[in-house]
Amino acid sequence: MTTVIVCRPRRYPIRRVLACPTCKTRRRMITHYEVWYGTSLTCCHCGDHWQDGELYRRPSRRGWRKEAAAKAAAEWLAAGRHDPVAFETWVKRELGEDQ
Ligand SMILES: [Zn+2]
Repeated sequence: MTTVIVCRPRRYPIRRVLACPTCKTRRRMITHYEVWYGTSLTCCHCGDHWQDGELYRRPSRRGWRKEAAAKAAAEWLAAGRHDPVAFETWVKRELGEDQ
């Protein structure tokens, strides 16, 4: 039997209002900061997702936009107001600089 271990970096969610290239207007976007992997963002309106400025491949199934947009909107609400001090503390902890 083979055991597969998947490691996923911890992410820090940050609310943003940015110009969405797909919607061609400013939209709410949830960004996820990952210390070693950069930033990803998802539009809460169209559901498109970018990683380090590159558009992710869109799923080839019906309804994905609605699902992705709803998930991003829920994450946007859950992220709450951005706290720069809490973010800096999180980054230092992730880098092991808090000890
Ligand atoms: Zn959009």
